[in-house]
Amino acid sequence: MDRTKNNKKATESNTDKPLILVCNDDGIRSEGLSALALALRRIGEVYVVAPDREQSAVGHSLTLHRPLRFEEIAPKWYSVDGTPTDCVTLAVHGKVLPRRPTLVVSGINKGANLGEDVSYSGTVSAAMEGTLLGIPSIAISLEGKRGFDFAPSAKFAAKVASTVLKKNLPKDTLLNINIPHQKKIKGVRLTSQGKRIYGDVVIEKEDPRGKKYYWIGGDMLRWEGGEDTDFAAITKGYISITPIHLDMTNYSAISELQYWNFKV
Ligand code: MN
Repeated sequence: MDRTKNNKKATESNTDKPLILVCNDDGIRSEGLSALALALRRIGEVYVVAPDREQSAVGHSLTLHRPLRFEEIAPKWYSVDGTPTDCVTLAVHGKVLPRRPTLVVSGINKGANLGEDVSYSGTVSAAMEGTLLGIPSIAISLEGKRGFDFAPSAKFAAKVASTVLKKNLPKDTLLNINIPHQKKIKGVRLTSQGKRIYGDVVIEKEDPRGKKYYWIGGDMLRWEGGEDTDFAAITKGYISITPIHLDMTNYSAISELQYWNFKV
């Protein structure tokens, strides 16, 4: 490796501490991101690489058809004109960070990421990307719509991050953490990914010129399943930690489908 090129970065970087990459999908200006980065600085050397604007619900999208650019906003603080997945990919494989991150923490998202939200969420996808790259990763979201107080969630994230740094995570598994909105939190529950019951998620309206337009997204918080789900924990005032596995294979379906006799 050519050390002279990275000399400046190497001297600035504290190699004794684990390098923690912080990302989000609400964009570089989100208070959730700065609260998280600040709390994590107590346990590691923090680099922030986040989208230059809101990227909520972009899922695991990767930008392949245009160039991407880093902008240094402050020391160890970069914005990228791409998705959360782009940010993690560039941070890990690009030449901006002094070394490979030891941990990826994504959030703190404004709003919960429960049940099927996991498939759409840019916050969770950033942690998925970290996991795919073999780095232990955590996604953290705070329930609610406004009036967020991120500091307690950031403190909790740092606690979990510190434990993950000590113990590592099971293979191909990320932690999806959701914090309830209320001040008095009852405790922490390990949960399974719940299943939302969808209501009218597409709203049809008419614009001032008489043309119809559509708005995706409902406010439903009804779910199927029992007490062990992420939904149930949050509703009852508990922090939810769901271990999410990246292998989406339904193993029991393989044994069932073999009787279908698929043939060429
Ligand atoms: Mn978001």
